[in-house]
Amino acid sequence: MTTTAPATVDALIRHIEEASLLSSSNAILDWDQETMMPQGGIEWRARQQALLARIVHERASSIERGDLIEAVERDREAMADAQTAALVREARRDYGKATKLPSSLVEEMTRISSMAKHEWALARAASDFARFSPWLEKLVGLLRAQADCYGFAKDGERWDALADLYEPGCTARSVAAVFDPLRPRLQGLVADLMAAKTKPSGEFNDYLVPIAQQEELSRFVAERIGFDFNRGRLDRSTHPFCSGSHCNDVRLTTRYNERCVNDALGSTMHEAGHGIYEQGLPFARVGTPLGESVSLGIHESQSRMWENQVGRSRPFWSWLRGELPRAIGADSARFSLDQLYAAANVVEPGFIRVESDEATYNLHIMVRFEIERAVIGGSLEVAGIPSVWNKLYKDYLGLVVPDDRRGCLQDIHWSMGAMGYFPTYTLGNLYASQFFEAACAEMPGLLDGVARGEFTPLKAWLNSNIHAHGRRFTPSELVQRVTGKPLSPEPLMRHLEGKLRPLYGL
Ligand code: ZN
Repeated sequence: MTTTAPATVDALIRHIEEASLLSSSNAILDWDQETMMPQGGIEWRARQQALLARIVHERASSIERGDLIEAVERDREAMADAQTAALVREARRDYGKATKLPSSLVEEMTRISSMAKHEWALARAASDFARFSPWLEKLVGLLRAQADCYGFAKDGERWDALADLYEPGCTARSVAAVFDPLRPRLQGLVADLMAAKTKPSGEFNDYLVPIAQQEELSRFVAERIGFDFNRGRLDRSTHPFCSGSHCNDVRLTTRYNERCVNDALGSTMHEAGHGIYEQGLPFARVGTPLGESVSLGIHESQSRMWENQVGRSRPFWSWLRGELPRAIGADSARFSLDQLYAAANVVEPGFIRVESDEATYNLHIMVRFEIERAVIGGSLEVAGIPSVWNKLYKDYLGLVVPDDRRGCLQDIHWSMGAMGYFPTYTLGNLYASQFFEAACAEMPGLLDGVARGEFTPLKAWLNSNIHAHGRRFTPSELVQRVTGKPLSPEPLMRHLEGKLRPLYGL
């Protein structure tokens, strides 16, 4: 595609690449702000980033870009190449997103969401939803206008247009079709575990490990599972994330809690999973859609797989147990494999999504999905969110939410104008389970290898089956292609039931 392609294809690639050079520079400024920048830098940094974002948007929505896409679309010979056809399909999709919103709406959204984010933080601290409510009403109005600009299928709904930004092709109906049957099964599993007489010991989760040692352990594990430190970094931040400029410069962050080494380990493996995906994207396609990740859901599947399918498995702990005395002190040898494995898999319904376990996590997501679907669809007023939230937490998790801080004000997403985003977390869990089952079926000794600290086979499998394609396939095409089946809740349920029931003596 690059050497023999017609001039128009090359010109289109160069046009997209230049915008990517600018937007990836912005990503490094973002990373710097979260990890290194002194507080005093904030005002100038905001101006740097706003200017870069504006230039990127102008380029991505320019007439020149549209003309180049159209010229390649008309070129039958160029379009006969599958890679070029995929590139143009994705370029067309991005161009559509960039040009459909009037700039007045983009500016209004940026202005309102930056104020709403600030108001949300104050409202959360005061546990006062009424304070945030008028801002969320403004945001919902803008999001509905945004959805109308993007458009959605006749038999669809406004929420679909927002979700499509994060997960191409995702609709409320398709999400509900997976969530509705999944919910009672998860609730049944959690109820059985809570009623069980046997409880796994969480003793290791209270084991004090100095942060310097945890940092060394996190680095060691990230490297062993396949994160390349010659093409990436691991630093600290309040909220762990994965960013960077491209596949050869990937920036991870994690956080440490002296009282719980599993916090750092889980978040490091999670972010390293995102990082391994980024590093696995093809360098030859960098800066174009074929060098980018498919969707948030597919990205999340990579982080969840390393965090949960691998990092919470018995074979993983069997391997790590042998490494712990050297990494965090000889005393850690007193924990048996059973104790370590159990501590990584304690289930306990709680109020806070980001602190929840694998079994209850998706129930938290279902609450958010139902609320945002109803709010965007118009059947629920913003003022009614707290009571619906609290009712759903009672129904789904059996909890009485004590206040809005631990209820509907806990997440930042809505205050940033991100609705349609939450389901990608559960989609990630579903994709992860389905991909991992396919990997185990293709490589029967995979988990035996994990017990010996061999992670390369899984990483290589993910590299060739998922990472190498960039955005060549849509999320649903990729799942079908890699696993031979459409997305299903069965692998996730098999994963959870198969692991947790025995741990709880069921
Ligand atoms: Zn993630």
